[in-house]
Amino acid sequence: MPLHIPFDNSYAALPAAFYTRQAPTPVREATPLAWNEALAAQLGITGQDAAVFAGNTVPAGADPLAQLYAGHQFGNYNPQLGDGRAILLGEVFDTKGIRRDIQLKGSGPTPYSRMGDGRAWLGPVLREYVVSEAMHALGIPTTRALAAVATGEPVLREQGPLPGAVLTRVAASHLRVGTFQIFAHRGHIEELRTLTNYAIERHYPDADGPMGLLAAVCRAQAELVAAWMSVGFIHGVMNTDNCTISGETIDYGPCAFMDAYHEARVFSSIDQTGRYAYGNQPRIAVWNMAQCATALIQLADDKEAAVEEATAIVHAMPEQLQSAWLHRFGAKIGLEHAMEDDQPLIEDLLALMQADGADFTNVFAALGTATARDQFTDRDAFDAWEQRRQDRIGPDAMQIMARANPHIIPRNHRIEDMIAAAQGGDMALFERLMSALSSPHDVPSDFDDLRRPPTKDEIVPATFCGT
Ligand code: AMP
Ligand code: MG
Repeated sequence: MPLHIPFDNSYAALPAAFYTRQAPTPVREATPLAWNEALAAQLGITGQDAAVFAGNTVPAGADPLAQLYAGHQFGNYNPQLGDGRAILLGEVFDTKGIRRDIQLKGSGPTPYSRMGDGRAWLGPVLREYVVSEAMHALGIPTTRALAAVATGEPVLREQGPLPGAVLTRVAASHLRVGTFQIFAHRGHIEELRTLTNYAIERHYPDADGPMGLLAAVCRAQAELVAAWMSVGFIHGVMNTDNCTISGETIDYGPCAFMDAYHEARVFSSIDQTGRYAYGNQPRIAVWNMAQCATALIQLADDKEAAVEEATAIVHAMPEQLQSAWLHRFGAKIGLEHAMEDDQPLIEDLLALMQADGADFTNVFAALGTATARDQFTDRDAFDAWEQRRQDRIGPDAMQIMARANPHIIPRNHRIEDMIAAAQGGDMALFERLMSALSSPHDVPSDFDDLRRPPTKDEIVPATFCGT
């Protein structure tokens, strides 16, 4: 069946200041690696065509463009970023009536490529495919993966020449905090206003003006980061250009799920100071929203009043984060409505896990069963803690925990194995991982090996930015 994508593009109808029209650069030989049939159906897409998802053919109705944005990278403002290796083909309405972007990533240079080649290699493409789809299966807002296609062209990276690939990413939108920052910093207020109205209409139609938008994004980001924390996810590069207005997780570069729990865990090889460490993520989310506030304040006639209002909105975030965290971690130990008083119980378990190097996912998955204590070397300490939990929980604790605690996450060492196999042309591990991760709360026993933490030899200590 020939490919049909029912495009209905709105970003391309915005003024030219927001983007540069740019067609993808064709590749030597498009070979399909993965195709997300369920997502395609949700998007009203019929048929499939690797040539389109490699960027060799521009499909009917597409209006390809590279989006402009800026952003704070590791705390420093970079005045111009933009899609350096991504191209927005256009938008479709999904079966729920929500507008979704269809974007190629790794599809060749754009005016915003700076020193980059506009390409991606197979490793990060498959990594993003697996991890973003795993996040979706975990119920966490995220961009999705529709297709991965090999290009038949080498991509030159530090490690040497690597096989090239293109990912097709689907998002509620690719609007970022950095999209607002670039116009605010340039003093382009008309563009900033147009963008703000566009974002409100697209994501938060009930929001009242720029401050209403800010409040909505703060709430979405607070919920998102609490959700990450609850599954041991470390984003790794929470720059403001990787912080969405929609509240979806975006940019699966150096991200990782923790095996052994540690609050200060960092995987990203470029995060020398631990700015984006696991336990720092809530603080960084607030910092990012302060940058968003700084941009949106530029729209106000009465700047002083706007500063006051924006400050109150951003200052409300730590409490939103805290309450979302408490709700999620309460459920993880079996409490439907955790109270502030329950916080020490949760924190004491995390402290035990940290002291013991216990596996984050497997401890929670085992809670309430006889094997939970086996996750610890200091079993007496765990038993004493478990008694406190028993004294607190109600009869429905097991059902609450079953919903809150996944039994499988995409572990780093499994992703590395999968990439190595795929480089040799073997996609069986990819398929197996995708299948195991599709129902994380109910994993068939033939996937038990994928639930196992890494042995000393298997530990992947660092992840790389994936460019
Ligand atoms: P990221 O670290 O992936 O969020 O990317 C930061 C910026 O670098 C964005 O503007 C990207 O488009 C750009 N970029 C990353 N990799 C490449 C590449 N291989 N070629 C061109 N631009 C890139
Ligand atoms: Mg990015």
